[in-house]
Amino acid sequence: MKKIAFGFAAALAAVAWGAENFNDIACRVIPVPQKIGITSRAAQKLDADRVLRIASNLSEADVKKTTAALCVQYWGVAPEIVCTVGGEAVVEEGYRLDTTGEVFSIEVSSFAGLRYALSTMRQLSAPERGVEKGRGFVMPQVKIDDFPQLKFRAFHFMFANGQPLWKAERALRLAAYCKYNYFILEFWGNIKLDSHPEYAYPDAVSKADVKKLVALGKELGITLIPHFQIFGHAGCGSIAGGRHVLLDKHPEYATLFEPSGWTWCVSNPAARQYIEDCALELYEIFDRPPFFHVGGDEAYNAGSCSLCGTGEPYWKKVAAHFNYFRDLFAGKNCRILMWHDMLVRRDAPAWKGSTANGDADCDKLRAALDRDIIICYWEYRFADHAYRAPKDGVPDFPIFDFLRKDGFAVVNSGWMYDTTPALGEKAFKNGGFGIMQTTWGTLSNSMNYHTMFAKGSTSGWNPAARYEQLIDNKIFTVDILNRLVRDVNYDMKITDPALTSTL
Ligand SMILES: [Zn+2]
Repeated sequence: MKKIAFGFAAALAAVAWGAENFNDIACRVIPVPQKIGITSRAAQKLDADRVLRIASNLSEADVKKTTAALCVQYWGVAPEIVCTVGGEAVVEEGYRLDTTGEVFSIEVSSFAGLRYALSTMRQLSAPERGVEKGRGFVMPQVKIDDFPQLKFRAFHFMFANGQPLWKAERALRLAAYCKYNYFILEFWGNIKLDSHPEYAYPDAVSKADVKKLVALGKELGITLIPHFQIFGHAGCGSIAGGRHVLLDKHPEYATLFEPSGWTWCVSNPAARQYIEDCALELYEIFDRPPFFHVGGDEAYNAGSCSLCGTGEPYWKKVAAHFNYFRDLFAGKNCRILMWHDMLVRRDAPAWKGSTANGDADCDKLRAALDRDIIICYWEYRFADHAYRAPKDGVPDFPIFDFLRKDGFAVVNSGWMYDTTPALGEKAFKNGGFGIMQTTWGTLSNSMNYHTMFAKGSTSGWNPAARYEQLIDNKIFTVDILNRLVRDVNYDMKITDPALTSTL
């Protein structure tokens, strides 16, 4: 009797009829699919004799072109591609895949779904067995019915600290491979803008290079979103390091900032204009994206200058500042995202253990903000201030509920440890706009790497699932993730041992 597990919920994804455990195969697919049934370990060759049947209502010529190009890139083969009409029942970005028969079949309703089906096949495929050398591949026999549950699944990459642009490209490719559909690129004075070339470090990259990355994102099916700070973090250096991208070289620009230099002076029209010049140039470089992240976190010493301290209340000036940029981009059909922490009181007992940096006037500030602004709620610990979820249940994220009730769309933004999957589940079950996997610094160790791709992508794609449930003591996740990085290194032709590792 054939063993068929198709139709099981994600948590039981790889459990088949009988005693056989297929977790070692199922855990290759990142994020965790909605439904995966593995019927046999017996390998199916993925070679030129294989037929791929693709059912969709998409342009046949485009489906064949996309699929043929990806088959050559992933496996070095040109299988026969047969297109048929269908796919109406598959949700957007979803796909159905069946590799159990002579013909491999894929059913999709969008090009995103087609790319995701082929990404899943690439993750599942293995090198041909039993030979010394070869470039052939084999597939296990699987049936998958898969789709994302959150429409906004962003991977945030902090492009800073002298990192070369190819690292951002590799992160972008990995994010697309793990089915994130947005990639937020945060600049810290490292892009040379025509409008303000002085607002850049000497090793800043060119606009042309960033445009290439934006174009690559389109090819990979992932939309790049620029991140530019319009409030705090204005010096583009860490608070501990003290570097200031502008004031270290140009003290004459100190008027644009609060006296310490960390936060823009929102009362100075020249500062507003300076920020607008940079933001609009970035908007064009990113080819007019649907979202623009304006930062807004950790605005230390905000409102500390004599101009900010006189006239109308400071909170009104800050609200006007954010609403100005909201209106500016809304006129271009682009929504702004901002961080949440300056909008909730740091001394409120309800937020004890949560991230809150707002002052006594922040309730008025928040009330005055346009509700079209999307709030990115970043939380790296649970409400008990622990990185690990307690064994007796996951404590809530009260600030998420508060912001939702207050009328905002909220993107839950995790970092490491157990909060990432818990924030995804919270967003999914309570009407969140989406999730964001933040990174902060380089992809610098295997713990980061595990969270960002295996857990982070699952938190937006299949928020009720837990990648760890597929793992037992025979499986070492980082090794599985290393293979994904190697795939991307092949795509980028990276073979230098100094560059192949993510460390
Ligand atoms: Zn000021």
